[in-house]
Amino acid sequence: PVRVRFCPSPTGNPHVGLVRTALFNWAFARHHGGTMVFRIEDTDAARDSEESYNQLLDSLRWLGLDWDEGPEAGGPHAPYRQSQRMDIYQDVAQKLKAGGYAYECFCTALELEVRRDAARAAGKPSGYDGTCRNLSEDRIARYKAEGREAIVRFRMPDEPITFTDLVRGELTFNPDNVPDYGIVRANGAPLYTLVNPVDDALMEITHVLRGEDLLSSTPRQIALYKALIELGIAKEIPQFGHLPYVMGEGNKKLSKRDPEASLNLYRERGFLPQGLLNYLSLLGWSIAEDRDIFTIEEMVAAFDIKDVNANPARFDLKKCEHINAEHLRKLSVEEFTAACEPWLKAPYANWKPESFDRAAFERIAPHAQTRVTVLSDITANVDFLFLDEPVEDEASWTKAMKGDPAALLTTARAKLEAADWTSPESLKEAVLAAGEEHGLKLGKAQAPVRVAVTGRTVGLPLFESLEILGKDKTLSRIDTALA
Ligand code: GLU
Repeated sequence: PVRVRFCPSPTGNPHVGLVRTALFNWAFARHHGGTMVFRIEDTDAARDSEESYNQLLDSLRWLGLDWDEGPEAGGPHAPYRQSQRMDIYQDVAQKLKAGGYAYECFCTALELEVRRDAARAAGKPSGYDGTCRNLSEDRIARYKAEGREAIVRFRMPDEPITFTDLVRGELTFNPDNVPDYGIVRANGAPLYTLVNPVDDALMEITHVLRGEDLLSSTPRQIALYKALIELGIAKEIPQFGHLPYVMGEGNKKLSKRDPEASLNLYRERGFLPQGLLNYLSLLGWSIAEDRDIFTIEEMVAAFDIKDVNANPARFDLKKCEHINAEHLRKLSVEEFTAACEPWLKAPYANWKPESFDRAAFERIAPHAQTRVTVLSDITANVDFLFLDEPVEDEASWTKAMKGDPAALLTTARAKLEAADWTSPESLKEAVLAAGEEHGLKLGKAQAPVRVAVTGRTVGLPLFESLEILGKDKTLSRIDTALA
């Protein structure tokens, strides 16, 4: 059975790269009817925060990425927070030392640095040089007597390590490039290098899908896994698949500090979870060459890790917005209304949330739905329906009221008053006729009407908007403009 894990550290805000990793693991698990384990790697008390932890849970829920084992869900391998598993790591570290797979290293930071510089200058590998690999009991006792502190270091095998990456194919790492590495700090705190593979082993993870930035830790983890198997702690080495880098502006790696990398930004702007997931799935994967809009169910059905591309993926905000817009168009009016509601009920200008009129909104919704890219666009498109006074935008006014529109507005008002208010066509004819009297084409004639009624120069189709707003409000806004 497939068992994957999503194992973020709770630091900072959730970002695009992290969510892409969660999504690919989730899709892989769901495609194979497997198990999604959500583990929190909170072993760094200085950087981890409860706020980040809560945000992670909240973000996954918002996206609809569920997990079978982990915080709140529980499961047979609980606890799923590493901060609550310290005894386990101490115990494993002890066993690794006792079995000779790891050793105490007494080298000081300064000694390491001096030797590293010398190795570099001599053009030799500059990783840990193995000084403490085979210390005699005497030497160890002497170091301890001197008060030297020791970290625990894992002993890497002297042969190359080869594995088949699910995305990149066969990879080989030579021992010179993968020196012995620390697994427990001098103060006894276990490191990521230990706790991550130990938990993967204990939680019986079968597939590790994660970002390419972690590729260099894979040979170390495979070596550690082999030791864990010999110690009877692990059963099998999982398969690894490294997801491509995500590149941002200027073809630089998208950093979690880049503003467009923040998941919260997308929530606040009103992306739909399904739109964002659709876009994120394209960062390294595709459903078909000529198709980029699909549902999450379609992604799950089609997802094969072998189709993930090893080349860096480019993050393209425009495309992300386009895909979101396409998902907005697919909603029913009821769904679209429900999705817009948080924006329509938030305080805004002189808008009173209680003046939100669902029936009026549902009539305008089909027009709005094809024009908004993100849900936060909705207010500017429909606020004229709910505000007592339309938003007064000086620039729009000046632009639309060039020349002297009073005469035109007066004529338009009279013709609108006489029009049949049961269809937008009749309202259009009224404005068209008013324009003709003043030698203006429809476009020029409708601009001042639009600004008088909606406060803006651009917006939803005007005559439908007027019809939905109603005769009384339309005429009284024109009166106000003329006054
Ligand atoms: N906690 C690690 C991180 O956030 C997990 C890496 C992994 O998937 O192995 O980078």
